Amino acid sequence: MAKLSRLEKLEILADAAKYDASCASSGAQKRNSRDGAKGGIGSTTAIGICHSYAPDGRCISLLKILMTNMCMFECTYCINRSSSNVRRAAFTVDEVVDLTLDFYKRNYIEGLFLSSGIIRSPDYTMEQIVEVARRLREDHDFRGYIHLKTIPEGDPDLIAQAGRYADRLSINIEMPSDSGIRALAPEKDGARIRRTMHDLGIRIGDAKAERKTSRRAPIFAPAGQSTQMIVGADDSTDATVLQTSAQLYSSYGLRRVYYSAFSPIPDASRTLPAQPPPLMREHRLYQSDWLLRFYGFSVGEIAATMQDGRLALDMDPKLACAMQRRELFPVDVNRAPRESLLRVPGLGARVVDRLIAARRHQRLALADVGRLCQSLRKIRPFIVAADWRPTALLDRADLKQRIVPVPPPTQLSLFAS
Ligand code: SF4
Repeated sequence: MAKLSRLEKLEILADAAKYDASCASSGAQKRNSRDGAKGGIGSTTAIGICHSYAPDGRCISLLKILMTNMCMFECTYCINRSSSNVRRAAFTVDEVVDLTLDFYKRNYIEGLFLSSGIIRSPDYTMEQIVEVARRLREDHDFRGYIHLKTIPEGDPDLIAQAGRYADRLSINIEMPSDSGIRALAPEKDGARIRRTMHDLGIRIGDAKAERKTSRRAPIFAPAGQSTQMIVGADDSTDATVLQTSAQLYSSYGLRRVYYSAFSPIPDASRTLPAQPPPLMREHRLYQSDWLLRFYGFSVGEIAATMQDGRLALDMDPKLACAMQRRELFPVDVNRAPRESLLRVPGLGARVVDRLIAARRHQRLALADVGRLCQSLRKIRPFIVAADWRPTALLDRADLKQRIVPVPPPTQLSLFAS
């Protein structure tokens, strides 16, 4: 392999990390210190920097890279699989540590998101990842945020060490079903991935409990664990995806499941679809995931709105559930409990809380609700207010057409045959 400069490695390994959905990539504009007549200071090159959200809601920028995009595994959907014909690169531990510190001191980043292809063995790979975090924390007293990808096949002791240094750990489940894992990631084992998640969940829970009794108890991945599922690489339905997510949340206490729409890769296997799934599918899954975690919906309720196990793409899942269960509406904004208000399409959790606070002081009219939320269009058929009752609207056969906006007309391509 030709010797690559650090910048070339950064270009390759930051690009390879973009397939991990747990951080959104930054839209920062590239500005180079060398440009301009006198040159400048503080290059804001966007390579590898992405934005993520800390558990307390802060938006933080992370250096998001792989240690290496070489991999001995052959996951069919992955551009870094062993048979893939991509440019390869590998950072040393020193290089990742130096880059992180360098970027941190220049105020480009507030933390590191580090993943890796599997080289030599899962344990060797995990050792490298852990060593980066150890050096940052112990040798350089690095206080920034660290998110490490863990290799489920790695030694549990190494994963335990990772938790001592990282804020968040993640193990990618990748496929929604075990049969999907067997078919598309033959070296991986769904049961083993879940076992590792289970062990991690116990360690995270124990560490939290110990910290409650003693501030001196060691911390262990205080921001919890997360995972990623690729959607659309196999024929798993949205119902299966959400069932898997619900099981991961309830069994292992995961903080987040990220959904990543499969993107076709060069020289792909014929078993993979030629086209990516609609991005709206990924969006609807995130909305459904939100309903499961914060709005008290069950997978069964959301699945009841699906056709052939697929979420509707033309309306959000909360609206689809409300259309399905019209007998639960209208909901009286002046009297209904929080759980019922949370089911009203268009009313977010924050608006519901503001609404409950406001109704302590006055009886709310429709205009008062309108002032608390962005638009009344979607909400109106589902609520009762002091001066509003929508019964006729709820019974209408064309309710969906009245709420879901017709897509705007689009310009046809001049070059389509
Ligand atoms: S183990 Fe990870 S990097 Fe390697 S082929 Fe599978 S998904 Fe890609």
